[in-house]
Amino acid sequence: MAAALPRPLIDPFGRRIDYLRVSVTDRCDFRCTYCMPEAMTFLPRSEVLSLEEIDRLASAFVARGTRKLRLTGGEPLVRRGVVDLVRSLSRHLGNGLDELTMTTNGSQLARFAGDLAAAGVRRINVSLDTLGAATFARITRWGRLPQVLDGIAAAKAAGLHVKINMVALKGINDDAIDAMLRWTGAHGHDLVLIETMPLGTVDGERIDRYLPLSAVRRDLERRWTLAPLGDTTGGPARYVRVVETGQRLGFITPLTENFCDGCNRVRLTATGRLYLCLGQDDAVDFRDALRAGIDDAGLDALIDRALLAKPRGHDFVIARKRAPAVARHMSLTGG
Ligand code: SAM
Ligand code: SF4
Repeated sequence: MAAALPRPLIDPFGRRIDYLRVSVTDRCDFRCTYCMPEAMTFLPRSEVLSLEEIDRLASAFVARGTRKLRLTGGEPLVRRGVVDLVRSLSRHLGNGLDELTMTTNGSQLARFAGDLAAAGVRRINVSLDTLGAATFARITRWGRLPQVLDGIAAAKAAGLHVKINMVALKGINDDAIDAMLRWTGAHGHDLVLIETMPLGTVDGERIDRYLPLSAVRRDLERRWTLAPLGDTTGGPARYVRVVETGQRLGFITPLTENFCDGCNRVRLTATGRLYLCLGQDDAVDFRDALRAGIDDAGLDALIDRALLAKPRGHDFVIARKRAPAVARHMSLTGG
């Protein structure tokens, strides 16, 4: 008899939710200016889910039709044992799960790229906002560019497909986008440009660095031929092909262009709260239930209940003298 198909997760707006992002730690070895303050306070370890708890929760989502899992953070590769988690979750690949992937700052990739590839990871996103060493140090505060470039090279050598995430920052890296396009094109990496989002307080004003990607795109079109591509990922990025290099270029524009209608994802924080939207506070706690010994049927019912809270969309606004739209940092919820 054929195995029963999983009951899909459908939210109140009829969207099928088949993508789970998991923040495996809120900690990080960088302090990117747009992400967190330099003196960031991290959570006590007891509040963070164990790797076994993450495995159980992620597996419960796979049993409910999740086809894509992304591990993120904080910096996922600074969490001890994360490769064991990847190996363990890879048992679902081909058994409901289509893709197991990661977003990383690349600092530890030289060490772990081979392990990730061996565990079944095929594609990773690496955050890299500039190819200039001084600007890189200015943005990440604690990062070193050569280490990240070595990590990206190791990922490529291990056969991982690399997508570079670049947050566009006015007056900081807006003059570095052409160089990034050429470099990613020459190395066969895709590039995704991201607008800075108002998540958590940082040192200084985010609005001073906010760069609308609509303007960036218009500017790029003066020098590059951008051929629109159909939306194939179901994600928030809108893709074009750069005719001169052949690579895909994506734009994530939460502020200039809302992408919520096609939303297919939910996010699990390092503390076991399921956020139904990156830009809203609706969340359901799973940690207490797990630690109280909830059985599989109870967990399944809790997932159904959580989905009912998924909002239609975010309402990010970048404005001066206004608290961030969402108080928690991206590093907790997982970008
Ligand atoms: N540490 C890993 C990294 O940097 O790739 C994974 C976590 S990080 C929070 C995930 C992504 O979120 C990165 O590409 C980062 O540039 C982006 N990010 C962080 N804070 C952001 C913000 N306020 N607005 C837009 N993107 C942000
Ligand atoms: Fe760390 Fe990633 Fe945030 Fe930078 S963006 S501070 S690398 S979590």
